[in-house]
Amino acid sequence: MHKIKSADLPISVFENVQIQFDEAAKRLNIETGILELIKSTKRAVEINLPVEMDRGGLKMFTGYRVQHSIIRGPSKGGIRYHPDVNLDEIKALAAWMTWKCAVVNIPFGGAKGGVACDPSKMSQGELERLTRRYTADLIELFGPEVDVPAPDVNTNEQIMAWIMDTYSMHARHTVRSVVTGKPVEMGGSLGRREATGKGVLITVKEAAKHLHMHLSGSTVVIQGFGNVGSMTAKFFNDEGSKIIAVSDVYGGIYNSKGLDVPKLLEYVAKKKSVVGFPKTHPINNQKLLELECDILIPAALENQITKANAHRIKTKILAEGANGPTTPEADKILDKKKVFVIPDILCNAGGVTVSYFEWVQDRMGYYWTEDEVNERLENIMTKAFQDVLEMSLKHKVNMRVAAFMVAIKRVVDVIKLRGIYA
Ligand code: NAD
Repeated sequence: MHKIKSADLPISVFENVQIQFDEAAKRLNIETGILELIKSTKRAVEINLPVEMDRGGLKMFTGYRVQHSIIRGPSKGGIRYHPDVNLDEIKALAAWMTWKCAVVNIPFGGAKGGVACDPSKMSQGELERLTRRYTADLIELFGPEVDVPAPDVNTNEQIMAWIMDTYSMHARHTVRSVVTGKPVEMGGSLGRREATGKGVLITVKEAAKHLHMHLSGSTVVIQGFGNVGSMTAKFFNDEGSKIIAVSDVYGGIYNSKGLDVPKLLEYVAKKKSVVGFPKTHPINNQKLLELECDILIPAALENQITKANAHRIKTKILAEGANGPTTPEADKILDKKKVFVIPDILCNAGGVTVSYFEWVQDRMGYYWTEDEVNERLENIMTKAFQDVLEMSLKHKVNMRVAAFMVAIKRVVDVIKLRGIYA
Protein backbone atom coordinates (compact mmCIF):
# COMPACT_ATOMS: atom_id res chain seq x y z
CA MET A 1 0.00 0.00 0.00
CA HIS A 2 1.32 3.44 -0.93
CA LYS A 3 0.89 6.15 1.63
CA ILE A 4 -0.13 9.46 0.07
CA LYS A 5 2.07 12.15 1.58
CA SER A 6 0.44 15.00 3.40
CA ALA A 7 0.89 18.46 1.89
CA ASP A 8 3.63 19.52 4.30
CA LEU A 9 5.96 16.63 3.40
CA PRO A 10 8.02 16.73 0.22
CA ILE A 11 6.55 14.52 -2.49
CA SER A 12 8.66 11.45 -3.26
CA VAL A 13 8.98 11.38 -7.02
CA PHE A 14 9.92 7.69 -7.00
CA GLU A 15 6.75 6.91 -5.07
CA ASN A 16 4.79 8.78 -7.76
CA VAL A 17 6.17 6.54 -10.53
CA GLN A 18 5.35 3.44 -8.51
CA ILE A 19 1.78 4.64 -7.97
CA GLN A 20 1.46 5.26 -11.72
CA PHE A 21 2.87 1.78 -12.37
CA ASP A 22 0.46 0.08 -9.94
CA GLU A 23 -2.52 1.92 -11.39
CA ALA A 24 -1.76 0.37 -14.80
CA ALA A 25 -0.45 -3.01 -13.60
CA LYS A 26 -3.64 -3.86 -11.71
CA ARG A 27 -5.51 -3.79 -15.04
CA LEU A 28 -3.17 -6.32 -16.64
CA ASN A 29 -3.30 -9.97 -15.81
CA ILE A 30 0.36 -10.37 -14.84
CA GLU A 31 1.92 -12.54 -12.15
CA THR A 32 2.84 -10.52 -9.02
CA GLY A 33 6.45 -11.75 -8.98
CA ILE A 34 7.04 -10.55 -12.55
CA LEU A 35 5.52 -7.19 -11.71
CA GLU A 36 7.77 -6.84 -8.66
CA LEU A 37 10.79 -7.69 -10.82
CA ILE A 38 10.12 -5.15 -13.58
CA LYS A 39 9.10 -2.46 -11.11
CA SER A 40 12.26 -2.60 -9.02
CA THR A 41 15.50 -0.74 -9.64
CA LYS A 42 18.24 -2.93 -11.13
CA ARG A 43 21.19 -0.96 -9.78
CA ALA A 44 21.73 2.39 -7.99
CA VAL A 45 25.15 3.90 -7.41
CA GLU A 46 26.05 6.95 -5.32
CA ILE A 47 29.52 8.47 -5.61
CA ASN A 48 31.40 11.34 -4.05
CA LEU A 49 33.43 13.38 -6.50
CA PRO A 50 36.37 15.63 -5.60
CA VAL A 51 36.71 18.59 -7.96
CA GLU A 52 39.52 21.12 -7.98
CA MET A 53 37.92 24.57 -7.97
CA ASP A 54 39.30 27.60 -9.84
CA ARG A 55 39.93 29.55 -6.64
CA GLY A 56 41.99 26.69 -5.26
CA GLY A 57 41.00 23.83 -2.99
CA LEU A 58 38.81 20.81 -3.48
CA LYS A 59 35.04 20.66 -3.31
CA MET A 60 33.10 17.41 -2.91
CA PHE A 61 30.01 16.73 -5.05
CA THR A 62 27.57 13.83 -4.77
CA GLY A 63 26.66 12.05 -7.99
CA TYR A 64 24.33 9.19 -8.93
CA ARG A 65 23.71 6.72 -11.72
CA VAL A 66 20.66 4.52 -11.54
CA GLN A 67 19.97 1.71 -13.99
CA HIS A 68 16.34 0.83 -13.58
CA SER A 69 16.04 -1.87 -16.24
CA ILE A 70 18.15 -3.66 -18.85
CA ILE A 71 15.46 -6.11 -19.93
CA ARG A 72 14.77 -4.64 -23.38
CA GLY A 73 18.33 -3.47 -24.11
CA PRO A 74 21.13 -1.26 -22.77
CA SER A 75 19.89 1.20 -20.17
CA LYS A 76 19.39 4.73 -21.51
CA GLY A 77 18.87 8.04 -19.81
CA GLY A 78 20.11 11.56 -19.28
CA ILE A 79 22.37 13.17 -16.73
CA ARG A 80 21.04 16.08 -14.69
CA TYR A 81 23.09 18.80 -12.95
CA HIS A 82 20.92 20.60 -10.38
CA PRO A 83 21.24 21.58 -6.70
CA ASP A 84 18.18 19.47 -5.78
CA VAL A 85 19.36 16.24 -7.42
CA ASN A 86 18.94 13.30 -5.01
CA LEU A 87 18.67 9.51 -5.18
CA ASP A 88 14.86 9.45 -4.99
CA GLU A 89 14.56 11.78 -7.99
CA ILE A 90 17.15 9.92 -10.08
CA LYS A 91 15.51 6.56 -9.31
CA ALA A 92 12.18 7.98 -10.48
CA LEU A 93 13.62 9.47 -13.66
CA ALA A 94 15.39 6.15 -14.42
CA ALA A 95 12.12 4.22 -14.04
CA TRP A 96 10.27 6.66 -16.32
CA MET A 97 12.99 6.03 -18.94
CA THR A 98 12.24 2.29 -18.91
CA TRP A 99 8.55 2.91 -19.52
CA LYS A 100 9.23 5.67 -22.06
CA CYS A 101 11.55 3.52 -24.19
CA ALA A 102 8.95 0.76 -24.12
CA VAL A 103 6.11 3.13 -25.11
CA VAL A 104 7.98 4.19 -28.25
CA ASN A 105 9.19 0.59 -28.68
CA ILE A 106 12.93 1.26 -28.97
CA PRO A 107 15.41 -1.39 -27.76
CA PHE A 108 16.53 0.22 -24.52
CA GLY A 109 16.00 -0.14 -20.80
CA GLY A 110 15.96 2.87 -18.49
CA ALA A 111 18.62 4.79 -16.55
CA LYS A 112 19.30 8.26 -15.22
CA GLY A 113 22.20 10.06 -13.62
CA GLY A 114 22.86 13.31 -11.90
CA VAL A 115 25.11 15.42 -9.75
CA ALA A 116 23.93 17.74 -7.00
CA CYS A 117 25.57 21.00 -8.08
CA ASP A 118 24.68 24.46 -9.33
CA PRO A 119 26.20 24.79 -12.82
CA SER A 120 25.22 28.48 -12.99
CA LYS A 121 27.84 29.11 -10.29
CA MET A 122 30.57 26.96 -11.86
CA SER A 123 33.15 27.82 -14.54
CA GLN A 124 33.53 25.76 -17.72
CA GLY A 125 36.76 24.33 -16.29
CA GLU A 126 35.04 23.24 -13.09
CA LEU A 127 32.17 21.68 -15.05
CA GLU A 128 34.62 19.84 -17.28
CA ARG A 129 36.58 18.44 -14.31
CA LEU A 130 33.34 17.41 -12.57
CA THR A 131 32.03 15.70 -15.73
CA ARG A 132 35.26 13.84 -16.43
CA ARG A 133 35.57 12.65 -12.83
CA TYR A 134 31.92 11.52 -12.81
CA THR A 135 32.50 9.57 -16.04
CA ALA A 136 35.79 8.05 -14.92
CA ASP A 137 34.40 6.95 -11.54
CA LEU A 138 31.43 5.22 -13.21
CA ILE A 139 33.27 3.96 -16.28
CA GLU A 140 32.44 0.27 -15.76
CA LEU A 141 28.74 1.11 -15.74
CA PHE A 142 28.78 2.86 -19.14
CA GLY A 143 29.19 1.49 -22.66
CA PRO A 144 27.28 1.32 -25.96
CA GLU A 145 25.88 -2.11 -25.03
CA VAL A 146 25.62 -1.33 -21.33
CA ASP A 147 24.32 2.11 -20.41
CA VAL A 148 24.21 5.19 -22.63
CA PRO A 149 23.86 8.68 -21.08
CA ALA A 150 22.36 11.80 -22.71
CA PRO A 151 21.64 15.42 -21.75
CA ASP A 152 18.97 16.46 -19.26
CA VAL A 153 18.39 19.58 -17.14
CA ASN A 154 21.51 21.81 -17.17
CA THR A 155 23.61 19.42 -19.24
CA ASN A 156 24.27 19.92 -22.93
CA GLU A 157 26.21 18.86 -26.02
CA GLN A 158 29.53 20.05 -24.58
CA ILE A 159 29.09 17.93 -21.46
CA MET A 160 28.26 14.91 -23.64
CA ALA A 161 31.45 15.61 -25.64
CA TRP A 162 33.52 15.46 -22.42
CA ILE A 163 31.84 12.20 -21.40
CA MET A 164 32.56 10.66 -24.80
CA ASP A 165 36.17 11.83 -24.70
CA THR A 166 36.80 10.59 -21.15
CA TYR A 167 35.29 7.18 -21.91
CA SER A 168 37.29 6.96 -25.15
CA MET A 169 40.58 7.91 -23.45
CA HIS A 170 40.10 5.02 -21.02
CA ALA A 171 39.06 2.61 -23.81
CA ARG A 172 42.10 3.73 -25.87
CA HIS A 173 39.96 4.22 -28.93
CA THR A 174 37.12 6.52 -29.94
CA VAL A 175 33.71 5.25 -28.84
CA ARG A 176 31.08 7.56 -30.28
CA SER A 177 28.03 5.51 -29.32
CA VAL A 178 28.70 5.64 -25.56
CA VAL A 179 26.67 8.81 -25.23
CA THR A 180 23.97 10.62 -27.25
CA GLY A 181 23.10 14.29 -27.59
CA LYS A 182 26.70 14.99 -28.69
CA PRO A 183 27.71 17.81 -31.05
CA VAL A 184 26.98 16.84 -34.68
CA GLU A 185 30.69 17.31 -35.56
CA MET A 186 31.63 14.30 -33.42
CA GLY A 187 28.82 11.85 -34.13
CA GLY A 188 25.72 13.60 -32.86
CA SER A 189 22.55 13.19 -34.89
CA LEU A 190 21.01 15.95 -36.93
CA GLY A 191 17.67 16.80 -35.34
CA ARG A 192 18.60 15.65 -31.80
CA ARG A 193 18.55 19.18 -30.35
CA GLU A 194 15.04 19.76 -31.71
CA ALA A 195 13.75 16.21 -31.13
CA THR A 196 11.99 16.51 -27.77
CA GLY A 197 10.15 19.67 -28.81
CA LYS A 198 9.26 18.11 -32.13
CA GLY A 199 7.93 15.02 -30.35
CA VAL A 200 5.78 17.21 -28.10
CA LEU A 201 4.32 18.85 -31.21
CA ILE A 202 3.66 15.50 -32.94
CA THR A 203 1.80 14.08 -29.94
CA VAL A 204 -0.23 17.28 -29.42
CA LYS A 205 -1.17 17.26 -33.12
CA GLU A 206 -2.46 13.71 -32.74
CA ALA A 207 -4.37 14.66 -29.58
CA ALA A 208 -5.86 17.70 -31.33
CA LYS A 209 -7.08 15.48 -34.18
CA HIS A 210 -8.68 13.15 -31.65
CA LEU A 211 -10.33 16.06 -29.83
CA HIS A 212 -11.34 17.89 -33.04
CA MET A 213 -9.20 20.91 -32.14
CA HIS A 214 -6.99 23.01 -34.42
CA LEU A 215 -3.44 23.99 -33.58
CA SER A 216 -3.55 27.12 -35.71
CA GLY A 217 -4.83 29.92 -33.50
CA SER A 218 -4.73 27.76 -30.34
CA THR A 219 -3.32 29.36 -27.18
CA VAL A 220 -0.23 27.77 -25.64
CA VAL A 221 1.48 28.25 -22.25
CA ILE A 222 4.94 26.82 -21.61
CA GLN A 223 6.73 26.49 -18.26
CA GLY A 224 10.52 26.19 -18.68
CA PHE A 225 12.46 27.67 -21.58
CA GLY A 226 15.50 25.41 -21.90
CA ASN A 227 16.05 22.80 -24.59
CA VAL A 228 12.53 21.38 -24.42
CA GLY A 229 10.56 24.57 -23.71
CA SER A 230 12.27 26.80 -26.27
CA MET A 231 12.12 24.25 -29.11
CA THR A 232 8.49 23.49 -28.30
CA ALA A 233 7.68 27.22 -28.45
CA LYS A 234 9.37 27.49 -31.83
CA PHE A 235 7.49 24.53 -33.33
CA PHE A 236 4.06 25.59 -32.04
CA ASN A 237 4.70 29.11 -33.29
CA ASP A 238 5.53 27.67 -36.73
CA GLU A 239 2.13 25.89 -36.65
CA GLY A 240 0.32 29.18 -36.10
CA SER A 241 -0.40 28.66 -32.40
CA LYS A 242 -0.33 31.70 -30.13
CA ILE A 243 2.27 31.31 -27.34
CA ILE A 244 0.75 33.57 -24.66
CA ALA A 245 3.12 32.88 -21.74
CA VAL A 246 6.48 31.25 -21.05
CA SER A 247 8.76 31.10 -18.02
CA ASP A 248 12.09 29.96 -16.66
CA VAL A 249 13.62 29.66 -13.21
CA TYR A 250 13.84 33.48 -12.93
CA GLY A 251 10.13 34.14 -13.69
CA GLY A 252 7.57 34.31 -16.48
CA ILE A 253 6.26 36.66 -19.17
CA TYR A 254 2.72 37.00 -20.52
CA ASN A 255 0.95 38.69 -23.42
CA SER A 256 -2.61 37.62 -24.26
CA LYS A 257 -2.04 38.63 -27.90
CA GLY A 258 0.87 36.19 -28.22
CA LEU A 259 4.65 36.47 -27.96
CA ASP A 260 7.01 37.14 -30.86
CA VAL A 261 8.80 33.80 -30.54
CA PRO A 262 11.69 34.34 -33.03
CA LYS A 263 12.56 37.61 -31.25
CA LEU A 264 12.18 35.92 -27.86
CA LEU A 265 14.65 33.19 -28.87
CA GLU A 266 17.17 35.88 -29.88
CA TYR A 267 16.53 37.73 -26.59
CA VAL A 268 17.08 34.59 -24.49
CA ALA A 269 20.28 33.74 -26.39
CA LYS A 270 21.68 37.11 -25.23
CA LYS A 271 20.09 37.62 -21.79
CA LYS A 272 19.92 33.97 -20.66
CA SER A 273 16.35 34.48 -19.41
CA VAL A 274 12.88 35.29 -20.73
CA VAL A 275 12.40 37.89 -17.98
CA GLY A 276 12.18 41.49 -19.20
CA PHE A 277 11.25 40.63 -22.79
CA PRO A 278 9.62 43.78 -24.24
CA LYS A 279 5.82 44.12 -24.62
CA THR A 280 5.03 41.51 -21.96
CA HIS A 281 3.73 41.49 -18.39
CA PRO A 282 5.63 39.61 -15.69
CA ILE A 283 3.88 36.53 -14.30
CA ASN A 284 5.10 34.06 -11.69
CA ASN A 285 5.49 30.34 -12.34
CA GLN A 286 2.43 29.36 -10.28
CA LYS A 287 0.06 31.85 -11.92
CA LEU A 288 1.39 30.88 -15.34
CA LEU A 289 0.24 27.29 -14.87
CA GLU A 290 -3.25 28.52 -14.03
CA LEU A 291 -3.73 30.66 -17.16
CA GLU A 292 -6.66 29.79 -19.39
CA CYS A 293 -5.29 28.20 -22.57
CA ASP A 294 -5.82 25.37 -25.07
CA ILE A 295 -2.47 23.67 -24.49
CA LEU A 296 -0.39 23.79 -21.32
CA ILE A 297 3.17 22.46 -21.58
CA PRO A 298 5.20 22.05 -18.38
CA ALA A 299 8.82 21.75 -19.57
CA ALA A 300 10.83 22.36 -16.39
CA LEU A 301 10.82 20.05 -13.36
CA GLU A 302 8.75 17.50 -11.42
CA ASN A 303 5.76 18.08 -9.12
CA GLN A 304 4.52 21.33 -10.66
CA ILE A 305 0.85 20.31 -10.88
CA THR A 306 -0.24 18.94 -7.53
CA LYS A 307 -3.46 18.59 -5.55
CA ALA A 308 -2.86 22.19 -4.42
CA ASN A 309 -3.29 23.75 -7.88
CA ALA A 310 -4.78 21.06 -10.18
CA HIS A 311 -8.34 22.32 -9.71
CA ARG A 312 -7.22 25.76 -10.97
CA ILE A 313 -5.71 24.40 -14.21
CA LYS A 314 -7.69 25.73 -17.17
CA THR A 315 -6.36 23.95 -20.22
CA LYS A 316 -7.85 21.46 -22.69
CA ILE A 317 -4.60 19.55 -23.33
CA LEU A 318 -1.80 19.09 -20.81
CA ALA A 319 1.30 18.03 -22.75
CA GLU A 320 4.07 16.90 -20.41
CA GLY A 321 7.34 18.09 -21.94
CA ALA A 322 8.96 17.66 -18.52
CA ASN A 323 9.28 14.37 -16.68
CA GLY A 324 6.90 13.93 -13.77
CA PRO A 325 5.31 17.41 -13.71
CA THR A 326 1.97 16.03 -12.46
CA THR A 327 1.44 14.12 -9.21
CA PRO A 328 -0.95 11.13 -9.01
CA GLU A 329 -3.34 13.14 -6.83
CA ALA A 330 -3.42 15.93 -9.41
CA ASP A 331 -4.09 13.37 -12.15
CA LYS A 332 -7.36 12.41 -10.45
CA ILE A 333 -8.47 16.05 -10.32
CA LEU A 334 -7.52 16.62 -13.98
CA ASP A 335 -9.47 13.50 -14.98
CA LYS A 336 -12.59 14.93 -13.34
CA LYS A 337 -12.02 18.22 -15.14
CA LYS A 338 -11.71 16.26 -18.44
CA VAL A 339 -8.26 17.64 -19.21
CA PHE A 340 -6.64 15.48 -21.90
CA VAL A 341 -3.20 14.63 -20.47
CA ILE A 342 -0.44 13.45 -22.81
CA PRO A 343 1.83 11.76 -20.26
CA ASP A 344 5.57 12.43 -20.11
CA ILE A 345 6.52 8.87 -21.09
CA LEU A 346 4.78 9.48 -24.41
CA CYS A 347 4.86 13.26 -24.88
CA ASN A 348 8.58 13.90 -24.39
CA ALA A 349 9.82 10.60 -25.89
CA GLY A 350 11.03 12.34 -29.07
CA GLY A 351 14.36 13.05 -27.35
CA VAL A 352 15.18 9.46 -26.54
CA THR A 353 13.88 8.35 -29.93
CA VAL A 354 16.41 10.51 -31.77
CA SER A 355 19.02 9.50 -29.18
CA TYR A 356 18.31 5.96 -30.34
CA PHE A 357 18.82 7.11 -33.96
CA GLU A 358 22.12 8.72 -32.92
CA TRP A 359 23.27 5.46 -31.29
CA VAL A 360 22.27 3.50 -34.43
CA GLN A 361 24.10 5.94 -36.74
CA ASP A 362 27.24 5.93 -34.57
CA ARG A 363 27.31 2.14 -34.59
CA MET A 364 26.83 2.02 -38.39
CA GLY A 365 29.27 4.86 -38.98
CA TYR A 366 26.76 6.18 -41.52
CA TYR A 367 24.73 9.32 -40.94
CA TRP A 368 21.22 10.23 -42.02
CA THR A 369 19.92 13.54 -43.35
CA GLU A 370 17.78 15.68 -41.07
CA ASP A 371 14.73 14.83 -43.20
CA GLU A 372 15.35 11.10 -42.70
CA VAL A 373 15.67 11.61 -38.92
CA ASN A 374 12.48 13.67 -38.76
CA GLU A 375 10.47 11.29 -40.90
CA ARG A 376 11.47 8.31 -38.73
CA LEU A 377 10.74 10.33 -35.57
CA GLU A 378 7.29 11.22 -36.84
CA ASN A 379 6.54 7.56 -37.67
CA ILE A 380 7.59 6.33 -34.23
CA MET A 381 5.84 9.06 -32.25
CA THR A 382 2.60 8.80 -34.22
CA LYS A 383 2.52 5.02 -33.84
CA ALA A 384 3.22 5.33 -30.09
CA PHE A 385 0.42 7.85 -29.67
CA GLN A 386 -2.01 5.61 -31.57
CA ASP A 387 -0.99 2.52 -29.52
CA VAL A 388 -1.63 4.43 -26.29
CA LEU A 389 -4.88 5.99 -27.50
CA GLU A 390 -6.16 2.57 -28.58
CA MET A 391 -5.34 1.11 -25.14
CA SER A 392 -7.01 4.10 -23.49
CA LEU A 393 -10.23 3.72 -25.48
CA LYS A 394 -10.30 -0.07 -25.14
CA HIS A 395 -9.89 -0.08 -21.35
CA LYS A 396 -11.61 3.28 -20.67
CA VAL A 397 -8.55 4.63 -18.85
CA ASN A 398 -6.73 7.93 -19.16
CA MET A 399 -3.68 8.29 -21.40
CA ARG A 400 -1.18 7.90 -18.52
CA VAL A 401 -2.62 4.61 -17.35
CA ALA A 402 -2.83 3.47 -20.98
CA ALA A 403 0.81 4.43 -21.69
CA PHE A 404 1.98 2.46 -18.64
CA MET A 405 -0.17 -0.50 -19.73
CA VAL A 406 1.42 -0.49 -23.21
CA ALA A 407 4.91 -0.19 -21.70
CA ILE A 408 4.49 -2.81 -18.96
CA LYS A 409 3.10 -5.30 -21.47
CA ARG A 410 6.10 -4.81 -23.76
CA VAL A 411 8.62 -5.29 -20.93
CA VAL A 412 6.75 -8.35 -19.64
CA ASP A 413 6.66 -9.92 -23.13
CA VAL A 414 10.46 -9.74 -23.26
CA ILE A 415 11.10 -10.98 -19.73
CA LYS A 416 8.86 -13.97 -20.41
CA LEU A 417 10.82 -14.82 -23.56
CA ARG A 418 14.17 -14.35 -21.82
CA GLY A 419 13.16 -16.23 -18.69
CA ILE A 420 14.73 -15.84 -15.26
CA TYR A 421 18.39 -16.87 -15.13
CA ALA A 422 19.15 -18.67 -11.91
P1 NAD B 1 17.13 22.68 -19.56
O1 NAD B 1 18.14 22.72 -18.50
O2 NAD B 1 17.56 22.91 -20.96
O3 NAD B 1 15.94 23.73 -19.25
C1 NAD B 1 15.22 23.72 -18.06
C2 NAD B 1 14.36 24.99 -18.04
O4 NAD B 1 13.52 24.97 -16.89
C3 NAD B 1 15.18 26.27 -17.95
O5 NAD B 1 14.56 27.28 -18.72
C4 NAD B 1 15.10 26.63 -16.46
O6 NAD B 1 15.30 28.00 -16.21
C5 NAD B 1 13.66 26.20 -16.18
N1 NAD B 1 13.40 25.97 -14.76
C6 NAD B 1 14.17 25.36 -13.84
N2 NAD B 1 13.56 25.37 -12.65
C7 NAD B 1 12.37 25.99 -12.83
C8 NAD B 1 11.29 26.32 -11.98
N3 NAD B 1 11.33 26.00 -10.68
N4 NAD B 1 10.22 26.95 -12.52
C9 NAD B 1 10.21 27.27 -13.83
N5 NAD B 1 11.19 26.99 -14.68
C10 NAD B 1 12.26 26.37 -14.18
O7 NAD B 1 16.39 21.26 -19.43
P2 NAD B 1 15.56 20.48 -20.53
O8 NAD B 1 16.48 19.52 -21.19
O9 NAD B 1 14.79 21.44 -21.35
O10 NAD B 1 14.59 19.61 -19.62
C11 NAD B 1 13.36 20.12 -19.13
C12 NAD B 1 12.47 18.96 -18.72
O11 NAD B 1 12.26 18.10 -19.84
C13 NAD B 1 13.03 18.04 -17.63
O12 NAD B 1 11.96 17.52 -16.88
C14 NAD B 1 13.68 16.93 -18.43
O13 NAD B 1 13.84 15.74 -17.67
C15 NAD B 1 12.67 16.78 -19.53
N6 NAD B 1 13.15 16.14 -20.76
C16 NAD B 1 14.22 16.62 -21.44
C17 NAD B 1 14.62 15.99 -22.61
C18 NAD B 1 15.74 16.52 -23.46
O14 NAD B 1 15.94 15.99 -24.56
N7 NAD B 1 16.49 17.51 -23.05
C19 NAD B 1 13.93 14.86 -23.07
C20 NAD B 1 12.83 14.41 -22.36
C21 NAD B 1 12.43 15.07 -21.20
